[in-house]
Amino acid sequence: MNAPHPYTSQAGDFDSLARRSTEQLAQLTQQLQRHTQGEVLVSQADRGRYATDASIYQCMPLAVLVPRSEDDVVSALGICRELNVPIVPRGGGTSQCGQTVGAGLVIDFSKYLRRVIDLNVEQRTVTVEPGMVLDHLNAQLKSHGLWYPVDVSTSGQATLGGMAGNNSCGSRSIAYGNMVHNVLGADAWLSDGSLLSLGRFDQSQGAARHLGERVQQLALQLQPEIERHWPKVLRRVAGYNLDIFCNQNVRPYTADGSVNLAHLLVGSEGTLALTRSLTLQLSPLPRAKVLGVVNFPDFHSAMDTTQHIVRLGGPHLSAVELVDRTMIDLSLQNPAFAPTIRTALSPHINHGQPAAILLVEFSGESKDPLLPHLRDLVTLMGDLGLPGSVVEMVDDSAQKNLWEVRKAGLNIMMSLRGDGKPVSFIEDCAVPLEHLAEYTDALTEVFARHGTKGTWYAHASVGTLHVRPILDMRRDGAVKMRAIANEASELVRKFKGAYSGEHGDGLCRGEWIRWQFGDKIHDAFGQIKQWMDPIGLYSPSRMIDPPKMDDERLFRFPSSYRVIPIKTALDWSAWNVTADPVTETVSAPGTGGDPAQGFAKAVEMCNNNGHCRKFDAGTMCPSYRVTRDEQHLTRGRANTLRLALSGQLGTSALTDPALWETMDLCVSCKGCKRECPTGVDMAKMKIEFTHQYKQHHGYTLKDQLIAHLPRYAGWASRLAPLLNLRNRWPWLARLTERLTGLSAHRALPAWQAAHAFNTPTPGVDIATVLRAERGVVLFVDTFNGYFESDNARAAYRVLEAAGFTVHVAQRPDQHLCCGRTYLASGMVDQARVQVRQLIDYLLPLAQQGIPIVGLEPSCLLTLRDEALQLGLGESAHEVAQHALLWEEFLDREHQAGRLETLRAQLTPAQAPFLLHGHCHQKAFDLVSPIQRVLALIPQSSTTLIETSCCGMAGSFGYDAKHQDVSMAMAKLSLLPTIDKHPDAWVVADGTSCRHQIDHGSKRQALHVAQVLARHLG
Ligand SMILES: Cc1cc2nc3c(=O)[nH]c(=O)nc-3n(C[C@H](O)[C@H](O)[C@H](O)COP(=O)(O)OP(=O)(O)OC[C@H]3O[C@@H](n4cnc5c(N)ncnc54)[C@H](O)[C@@H]3O)c2cc1C
Ligand code: SF4
Ligand code: SF4
Repeated sequence: MNAPHPYTSQAGDFDSLARRSTEQLAQLTQQLQRHTQGEVLVSQADRGRYATDASIYQCMPLAVLVPRSEDDVVSALGICRELNVPIVPRGGGTSQCGQTVGAGLVIDFSKYLRRVIDLNVEQRTVTVEPGMVLDHLNAQLKSHGLWYPVDVSTSGQATLGGMAGNNSCGSRSIAYGNMVHNVLGADAWLSDGSLLSLGRFDQSQGAARHLGERVQQLALQLQPEIERHWPKVLRRVAGYNLDIFCNQNVRPYTADGSVNLAHLLVGSEGTLALTRSLTLQLSPLPRAKVLGVVNFPDFHSAMDTTQHIVRLGGPHLSAVELVDRTMIDLSLQNPAFAPTIRTALSPHINHGQPAAILLVEFSGESKDPLLPHLRDLVTLMGDLGLPGSVVEMVDDSAQKNLWEVRKAGLNIMMSLRGDGKPVSFIEDCAVPLEHLAEYTDALTEVFARHGTKGTWYAHASVGTLHVRPILDMRRDGAVKMRAIANEASELVRKFKGAYSGEHGDGLCRGEWIRWQFGDKIHDAFGQIKQWMDPIGLYSPSRMIDPPKMDDERLFRFPSSYRVIPIKTALDWSAWNVTADPVTETVSAPGTGGDPAQGFAKAVEMCNNNGHCRKFDAGTMCPSYRVTRDEQHLTRGRANTLRLALSGQLGTSALTDPALWETMDLCVSCKGCKRECPTGVDMAKMKIEFTHQYKQHHGYTLKDQLIAHLPRYAGWASRLAPLLNLRNRWPWLARLTERLTGLSAHRALPAWQAAHAFNTPTPGVDIATVLRAERGVVLFVDTFNGYFESDNARAAYRVLEAAGFTVHVAQRPDQHLCCGRTYLASGMVDQARVQVRQLIDYLLPLAQQGIPIVGLEPSCLLTLRDEALQLGLGESAHEVAQHALLWEEFLDREHQAGRLETLRAQLTPAQAPFLLHGHCHQKAFDLVSPIQRVLALIPQSSTTLIETSCCGMAGSFGYDAKHQDVSMAMAKLSLLPTIDKHPDAWVVADGTSCRHQIDHGSKRQALHVAQVLARHLG
């Protein structure tokens, strides 16, 4: 039973403007609902999901509006003005300094306001709405040979409106500049409701001209101050861009030296105006790139040499990015990345163990003219006393792989378990290159003095190295943060750098604006705010009158943060640890002091970086891809669980129906398990949540039907002809839907009177397989056994043809089952019983090293995943080590040269193959074995469909309530691709995937075992 909630968030009190009575909230809600078509979100859970971004802060907004149109924004603006409710604009919410966190009305531009308004290919300009995501824009520009080159690491989720708000900068800023260098114009609403068109000052008229003249006058008056205080670096994003009239940036803001008033909005973090549209300068897409990876014997020399590399670079130099020793080590420990990082290491430096590497990239129209630059780099390094230090990478795929490793290293760093986390607050100070070595040395000493350390990475070319000391914000983190920030700022001042060089000011660095620029310029910023937003409607208490960075009432994890004790069903002890900030040594599982036995700490791993909002080739997150709702996003779910577990949603913790709504559309695809940088495994969390919820609310008939399927399948199959009538008689299907909630529009899997478990079992007994030279166990799951027994037979035939002695796992008295259906229904205790029986059966075989192969990815992989969290001890691990997917096993045998007998029997392919990977295969990186096994078939060609989840996801898509969402997932790319290839054989190993394909395209997809069996000569 969960304890009453002990924690009440104080956050938001700093902003007296936004303290509103219930009556005013009701007024706001009512008016927004009446006068806009947008989504008005006011529940505690909804507000909580918008109370955080990728910073350490949390502040409950009064309400959230997701506008459907510009008109909605205009109406909301009028309503907020009238009710005096502040507005906090928001894009992807990936800011690291708390820019999007604030009391008031949060307006989320990312869902609907994301169109390209105008594209002019000749002029290389585009006008977009603010919610457009960078990667989505660049995908549209690609066919025109253009791109928008401010390539932030969050390109898959960052919106152009948010990027302009933060004056974002990409890895290639040395070549292209920051956001401010690439914005040509902006239309924006002032808080009085007027729409301002900001562009070239010399062409401006009316209110824009008037504003420009006032700012110009201010800038001219303060020119000596500006020249004295303004950091002379590319990466300065603090404050407002008052220097547009006397540019202090090392790169002119405009190509022709003109002044552009839109630049006043860039970096203003939503405090001056609401952006309606942005006109952007595009660049030709570089056609060719080459990379020189420079290895260094010590970190200092890497930093010291950067200036020389940049000087050498010329116009083709597009990036100089750092990867330090810690990241190299982390990559070497990761089997997926180790081979790639090894290709970057020079044997001539520290015997292949450099202290740091710099990724030096040159880009242009074609490779040949770039090669001399690589040679110059080699010469330079020789001259500097490091001959043999450059690894030359000309091949595109080698370069791409290395860039992936650079990103993954950061992800591994962020996945540190325990309460201490790498905290972003001085992570983007920018210093002139000649001081980079001295600065990084000194800051490393600062960290050591405060009992922590930092890992360095990123943009060496522009003197902005990212570094995050590990701090525990619930304990002494705030004190250390203040002390480190003070010392870091002294260093920045000493080296004439910018304290805020990339990620903006927000709540974290607002107080440093006066420190950076002095009183007069700070007051001038106040004047600009006064001119543009005299009523202080937009994101108040930020640039002007900001809070203290360490005001713990604004923290997501203040010292008063408490977790509600719960007894978990799964074993979460691996998360329940503490980590030493210096050595990163993690304590023993279960010692972290989490009252929720590690579940809360697993949930808190989400740092809100928003990577789950991406739409690229991976899986995560299918429910967001079709709804675009924060609620139906991995981040939204993790935040909701965190709020519930810490009592911030009331006393009912995990049993609140609001939680059910949040978790409902999670299809348990495990996309996040693999793709979330910090490894948030929402599928597993859903099992725990469902268990907790259903313990309280009880199980429905549908739950029982699905969960107990493996138990009743035996006798139900005897009634096959009768039960299958449901698929033929629509009225019966409708009746079933009413009784069970299973959609009448779906055919249910057809029962087989003769199936794998009631026909004579082929294969040998246990004693024989244990003695066999090439023994293997075939685990036939409920679905392939009872509904598609031909798959089990095909799998058997192929194994036998390949020369294996096969034992089919079976008990006369008991159907062996992996417990998957029980887990999906939250019946963890019953799942444990099933898994224990299966493990008991398989253990003697595993102990003798006999491979255990299975057909259904979600069933077999349960043995390698959830089964290890059921408290079943070492035997579960032993079995897991020998559990393989059927094709994974064949691929392994093939790699070892032991599949020649089978190959000799395979006949040429009869059609091309179109492959859809099951989500769990993707999560375990097990799609490539299917491709390699299919490639054994002579003359075969396989095309992998770039899909997320097919939408059926076990029983998810059969639920009448999920029908639409499920089909929408299938229609994203799976069904359209299948339709485009009418002659191909569709290959899909997942039972539910095959059913979804059948339902959506009327094509019969095949398990890979069937495909191989059909090609046996
Ligand atoms: C892991 C990670 C890596 C990152 N890497 C980079 C990087 O390489 N380079 C970089 O510069 N930053 C980086 N960032 C910071 C952040 O991702 C970027 O600043 C990004 O551009 C923010 O985009 P967003 O859509 O999430 O904006 P949000 O965070 O939603 O908003 C950013 C600001 O813009 C304002 N805003 C949004 N929409 C509007 C509007 N319509 N009108 C007025 N104001 C608006 C918001 O109020 C806020 O102040 C990183 C962050 C993370 C978590
Ligand atoms: S769930 Fe993972 S990917 Fe999504 S915001 Fe949280 S940490 Fe990032
Ligand atoms: S398991 Fe899949 S659907 Fe659920 S949150 Fe993770 S990526 Fe999204």
